[in-house]
Amino acid sequence: MRSDLTRFPFVKSLLKNRWPQFLVWFVMLAGFLFAILSGFFGTPVGNRNFGIVFVWIAWWAVLILVAVPFFGRGWCSVCPIPLPGEWLQRGAIMNPPGKKPRWFNLRWPNKLRNIWLQNLTFTLVALFSSVILTTPKVTSIVLAAMLFLAIGMSIVFERRTFCRYLCPVGGFIGLYAQAAPMELRVKNKQVCLACKDKPCYNGSEAGYGCPWDVFPGGLTKNTYCGLCMECLRTCPYDNISVNTRPFSADLSKPSGRMDEAFKAFIMLGAAMIYAGVLLGPWGKIKLAAYSVGSLSWFGYTAVFLAFIFGLLPALFLGAVGIGKVLTKSTLALKQSFTAFATAIVPLGLMFWVAFSLSFVLTNAAYIFSSLSDPFGWGWDLFGTAAISWQPYLTSLLLPLQTGVLVGGLLWTARTTQKVGSKVNISPIPVIIFSTVVTLTMLGLLL
Ligand code: SF4
Ligand code: SF4
Repeated sequence: MRSDLTRFPFVKSLLKNRWPQFLVWFVMLAGFLFAILSGFFGTPVGNRNFGIVFVWIAWWAVLILVAVPFFGRGWCSVCPIPLPGEWLQRGAIMNPPGKKPRWFNLRWPNKLRNIWLQNLTFTLVALFSSVILTTPKVTSIVLAAMLFLAIGMSIVFERRTFCRYLCPVGGFIGLYAQAAPMELRVKNKQVCLACKDKPCYNGSEAGYGCPWDVFPGGLTKNTYCGLCMECLRTCPYDNISVNTRPFSADLSKPSGRMDEAFKAFIMLGAAMIYAGVLLGPWGKIKLAAYSVGSLSWFGYTAVFLAFIFGLLPALFLGAVGIGKVLTKSTLALKQSFTAFATAIVPLGLMFWVAFSLSFVLTNAAYIFSSLSDPFGWGWDLFGTAAISWQPYLTSLLLPLQTGVLVGGLLWTARTTQKVGSKVNISPIPVIIFSTVVTLTMLGLLL
């Protein structure tokens, strides 16, 4: 059951008009630059610094608990990181200036048109995350690096190459956007077939060609549509709709791509490792994760990589293989593996939600103090600087996390069943795999 939100004139004009989006962008960009400044010039104490508190607690909470599960790539439509580069690339901030794009405008190489680089950038951030998450200067260096990389790539390449192929955050948002109850699609594919100039992809005086290098007429899943709303502005036939839909609608079409399959394992495994390292009682592992460059950190790195790229996919492959034997399937193992990897997307998302509940409810009190004293210089702008730390909703945390994990398991079991009936392979071994990793996650969190 889908419902087109653009049939309401108010919603449609809100999405088509550039000003509302621009105003949100403006606030986000100002906050982003302020976070970078506070990291460089504010207190080095992480939980007193605006950069750390607003990026890794406030933004992360909104992103993983609300934006991704309910709006998919909704965050990408207001993210400030690609903005300066995009403005430079277009030579305009609002409407198209009616000139050909300036700068080099190169196509991104065909061999790199996948998300392997995003898998790599996310893994790198995850490996150094203990330091990034707690050291304001390092957070600022990472944020500034992303900003300048996005600017550089906008100058050299066409469209939003950074978002599409490199951004460590964009990669996992795209993966989990498949589960969101929201999508942008064309209303009638026949209209697109007859449409000569395809302004949604090529641009027109009404707006820019798809910045994410997507042809809206061919959209079948949310992964690579950044919800920027340009096609809603450019389509002369009013053929674009923004729909609400059932959760995980895209997951009924199994992916055949290994890069997307590995993204699912990287996210699943990273959530488990984070739960163990950041929330667990093991001081030695925590210290190893913090001591970047030391022998113990290399040991931690080896275990991290072996778990994510070795153990998890190997166990999963074994489960898929057993399922194939049970049903005497002749489908290639690689195809079966990538198809079933789609089914663990909801499990990974719920792992991150459960982990983030702990992390966010424990640290949310810092938001009030750092809002009043963003640099840790003794200010008290809103009278909340002295609010002392305390964890919130501690009695609810345990049942909430258990509910989220059990819900994720049931959701994944249902998706696995659907994938199994599509490819004619028994889903039971994969459901057993999902149950074992969920119990492990539950153990790590509780
Ligand atoms: S401009 Fe509209 S009708 Fe034409 S191809 Fe794009 S979405 Fe389809
Ligand atoms: S132009 Fe349309 S299809 Fe392309 S990213 Fe924006 S909203 Fe998605």
